[in-house]
Amino acid sequence: MRAASTRTLFLFLPLALLTPLAAPAQQSSSAYGPLPVFEFHSGFWINLHHMLYYEAKLRESPPTAPQKGNPVPQVKLKSMKDAATPLSAAERIAWDNSVAFYAANYANKDLLFNNELMLLKNQLADFEDCDELSGAQKKTCDAGLAPRLTQALDAAAPIYRTHLWADQDRANRRWVAGVAPLVEEQGVGISQRLADIYQTKWPKEKIRVDVSAYANPSGAYTTIDPLRVTISSTDDRNQGDEAFEVLFHEASHGIAEPVQSAIIRECRQRDKVIPRDLWHALIFYTTGEVISPLMTAPGNARQENEDAVKPNSNRPPPSRRETYTPYAVREGLYQRGWKDYLQLLSRFWQPYLDNKSTFDDAIARMVSAL
Ligand SMILES: [Zn+2]
Repeated sequence: MRAASTRTLFLFLPLALLTPLAAPAQQSSSAYGPLPVFEFHSGFWINLHHMLYYEAKLRESPPTAPQKGNPVPQVKLKSMKDAATPLSAAERIAWDNSVAFYAANYANKDLLFNNELMLLKNQLADFEDCDELSGAQKKTCDAGLAPRLTQALDAAAPIYRTHLWADQDRANRRWVAGVAPLVEEQGVGISQRLADIYQTKWPKEKIRVDVSAYANPSGAYTTIDPLRVTISSTDDRNQGDEAFEVLFHEASHGIAEPVQSAIIRECRQRDKVIPRDLWHALIFYTTGEVISPLMTAPGNARQENEDAVKPNSNRPPPSRRETYTPYAVREGLYQRGWKDYLQLLSRFWQPYLDNKSTFDDAIARMVSAL
């Protein structure tokens, strides 16, 4: 239902979204709003943190020598050496020192699974409005980080601010402005539909989305308790209409726990090995199925409804996949080891999505067929 009217209406929105809200005192200047479901941020420290991590990772394994199990980030991102304005010798040394600190301490750790990195990312997001993190200028800006880490971030900050941040912040804001119309129009409906499917409730609070030039090798990741999404504004996989699907896929990580529990329960009852990633394939599949009808050519989704009440219509059946290919298909996830899962999902989960089966039956049947 990405109708022309919607597009026209929101032609005006991006400009408004580019201007931080004049809002309550606690409202971060990096936050956007008001949009339903999600709260978008383009925060300085979280972007710097991911940038240092990215450069440290590149230093550890340059693109020419990828290492198994330690993938090189698949993004075309400007690193500091590509900055439009050249760095002075002193800036170069300071930046390299901070990257070296990240290379020594974090590059071998996973942004998603490492607890220290998860806490650090959340902390940096919360301090996005501070100019420095030691508390030297403002007591409330003491982020409580280890002194050497504070030093690495505070030393890199002015260089990042001068040479890269403006471009990356602009890219983040452009990304939010691009996805905002669909979030505005369809966000509440999609969130309710997904919560119903997963037999749970969508969180009452808006889900914080930190938009960052670099996120991780997957282009986005989600941490829970608190539920927060980090998403790359520059990753090719997150652009255009796909941005909307990636957002809801990531958010689903936080709400689809009942599916994982049900799969585990059914496997235990049947003495079966719990399938790795079936749960993840299921949320990819589900988000794709729920989003796809909205992404067809303007009018198609509505026309489908009209045709449904006019059985004698001479119109050919609309092609639901004319213009939109779900993420997992587009990125070849099923082809790369999830082929069997796709069959299970099409056979046993799809009927549940079509209201022809119950949640419990669908999971039980999938697990039986494993
Ligand atoms: Zn995922």
